[in-house]
Amino acid sequence: MPPFKKILIANRGEIALRILRACQAMDIRTVAAHSTVDRNLKHVGMADESVCIGPPPAGESYMNVPALIAAMEVTDAEAVHPGYGFLAENADFAERVEESGFVFIGPRAETIRLMGDKVSAINAMRQAGVPCVPGSNGALDDDERRSVRLAEDIGFPVLIKAAAGGCGRGMRVVERPEDLLKAIDLTRQEARAGFGDDTVYMEKYLTNPRHIEIQVLADGHGNVVHLGERDCSMQRRHQKVIEEAPAPGITPEQREQIGRICTEACQRIGYLGAGTFEFLFEEGNFYFIEMNTRIQVEHPVTECITGIDLVRAQVEIAAGRPLPFGQSDIRFSGHAIECRINAEDPENFLPRPGQVEAFHAPGGPGIRVDSHIYDGYRIPPNYDSLIGKLIAYAESREAAIARMRVALDEMVLRGVVSNIPLHQKLLVDSGFVRGGSNIHYLEKLLKRLGR
Ligand code: ADP
Repeated sequence: MPPFKKILIANRGEIALRILRACQAMDIRTVAAHSTVDRNLKHVGMADESVCIGPPPAGESYMNVPALIAAMEVTDAEAVHPGYGFLAENADFAERVEESGFVFIGPRAETIRLMGDKVSAINAMRQAGVPCVPGSNGALDDDERRSVRLAEDIGFPVLIKAAAGGCGRGMRVVERPEDLLKAIDLTRQEARAGFGDDTVYMEKYLTNPRHIEIQVLADGHGNVVHLGERDCSMQRRHQKVIEEAPAPGITPEQREQIGRICTEACQRIGYLGAGTFEFLFEEGNFYFIEMNTRIQVEHPVTECITGIDLVRAQVEIAAGRPLPFGQSDIRFSGHAIECRINAEDPENFLPRPGQVEAFHAPGGPGIRVDSHIYDGYRIPPNYDSLIGKLIAYAESREAAIARMRVALDEMVLRGVVSNIPLHQKLLVDSGFVRGGSNIHYLEKLLKRLGR
């Protein structure tokens, strides 16, 4: 029996197609909810039904809660998969879905709310025994002397972060004591304007960390497993460019230890579904920075090394089914790397929408392409620039890199410019090939390359 009869997909692009494929493999009927400009998306054509939910601006379509609920009502969908971005981590939406008698494929609204505020997330995680970055242990108040003392205790440089921040926005590094109060004030102002919440907190600024995150799955029957880690240190402006699993240099003992800490934290907060604990990793220590309560862009690398279909697991958990495996059944094997392919200007990285004249996806052993584009597809200017993900899997990191190089060379994309040339340079770069670079590596490399 399929876990649901019909699911509404409240997203677009490659992730909507990924969800559609998972549903079809489970014999679940699909409804594609799309904006007017997205009528020609691949998954819209493939879905059993489609509903136009509004004009191109996301606020009026992919984030239009009444339109999505109405779309579920008219199509008789039982559940909604939010993908990532848009409403995926919106507790109010999850609540509205459940109140309307449908299933939200994701954690409970209260968990999304707890983790959506970084101050409450860090407090909850600290109480659950998860190692966090040394910091203010809560929101900063108006007591200036206290803030200065706190920063001195933590030690400069410190980072001022907005509790409601996201996507790398709403944080400021402070190197010197004399700049502290001004930085707190500016971050507050930005947070108020950008997120409607001026709560800020302080953390030690780790100078050379790696970004390593742990994938978890938790069902509604008390079973929680971790699926190991991903290394997402190749970032530009806090945006991930290449991800891989496992993380170079992480030992099975380190994986087990941090994995157990994460699964125990999930037990404690009653986590449900797929989730990711993001950590900075420096000198052998993990420091929690935030939890993502959704499927992530980089989930395929974990699927490659564990053989577990994460989207399918999300759907089954949402239907109330127990996980069909326990921690001891999970085996890590091989190495997987993902390159995010963006339609963007190679010089200034700005999105460059346009019409795809020709697209030929690479293939062969260990190559996976998650992409919604096709010959003649017009990339609209209204959404982010991700047009696909190229994933290479092999028995070793070295072999995965070799396969990725071939696949990048084989990919044909005409009509639009992309970051494929950047990936080609990265895949032969000595620092990347060595593995284990920190989060500043890519930006330093770009500077060296004159960008
Ligand atoms: P967002 O929700 O905006 O993604 P995160 O808290 O996940 O914010 O941080 C995003 C990125 O900012 C991290 O991947 C890392 O590169 C950097 N960062 C965050 N906190 C720190 C810190 N305490 N020290 C150094 N870098 C940090």
